[in-house]
Amino acid sequence: MSRHEDETLPSDSHDGAECISKPVLELSQARTSIVGEALPVRRALPGKPRRMVGAWCFLDHAGPLDYPIGGGLTVGPHPHIGLQTFTWMIEGEVDHHDSLGNHQRIRPGQVNLMSAGHGISHAEVSPMDRPGRVHAAQLWIALPDGERNRPPSFHHYPDLPRVEQGGFLFTVLVGEALGQTAEAEVFSPLMGVDARSESAAGTTMSLNPDFEHAAMCLQGEADVGGQHIIPGELLYLGTGRNELEISSDAAARILIIGGEPFGEDILLWWNFVARTQEELAAATEDWNAGRRFGQVTGTDLPHLVAPDLAGLRLRRPGG
Ligand code: MN
Repeated sequence: MSRHEDETLPSDSHDGAECISKPVLELSQARTSIVGEALPVRRALPGKPRRMVGAWCFLDHAGPLDYPIGGGLTVGPHPHIGLQTFTWMIEGEVDHHDSLGNHQRIRPGQVNLMSAGHGISHAEVSPMDRPGRVHAAQLWIALPDGERNRPPSFHHYPDLPRVEQGGFLFTVLVGEALGQTAEAEVFSPLMGVDARSESAAGTTMSLNPDFEHAAMCLQGEADVGGQHIIPGELLYLGTGRNELEISSDAAARILIIGGEPFGEDILLWWNFVARTQEELAAATEDWNAGRRFGQVTGTDLPHLVAPDLAGLRLRRPGG
């Protein structure tokens, strides 16, 4: 997915709330944004006050939404640097095309993970020949300094570890949880879990107390750590938790993410994660000039145009 052009100011993780070194229940509202041509999403990260949870620096929740022919996700070729895009497909299908030549349809229960590193471009498109339904989460993972200029890569994970516990079906998306380990290749200590119930359910799951964690309800309503949450809210849980109680009175779906506090300030602007405004400007100029990011084939959608660099220059150096 791609950040919409109206968000032209960089998000500086330095301006966000610090990691809280104890268990907390900090509830914040996602904002609505538009991805591609017409897909509304709930954007929970970067948010206020929370910019990051571990290395997770971006969280869009799209749908569930039924769309007509030609609708759904329609994001033309656009670039990324300094991050991994992590797509968790819950309902519907999306075709990924990237500048490394990968063409991958992602289906429900699957993950696409693209490591942008020094630079990659891709398009994400719902199948256009029929109406459809989309329900997905797309997250970005900031790459640590030693890895952020690595060569780009793409991986598709069709089968993820699943565990039933207390009436929830857990899918381990990233890292370790519930005794299972996901295959997704990440470059800092991270976890991500999807928990789905069909009816009333309740359980306690173990957490790594060194991680900070957060939860988002993706469907229905749920109680997490004693806090009631509904879709559109981000519940930040702080660190220092050895376990977490989750429950639902009816069918529900909860996304739980966590990671070691990132420890590096990042600048997030448009589709880029960097450390300085100069790096953001250089990536923008390279994209606009057709350099660095290769060519995406397999879609007729037009390239996205980077927002005006004036948004960057409004910020004082070092600000
Ligand atoms: Mn993208």
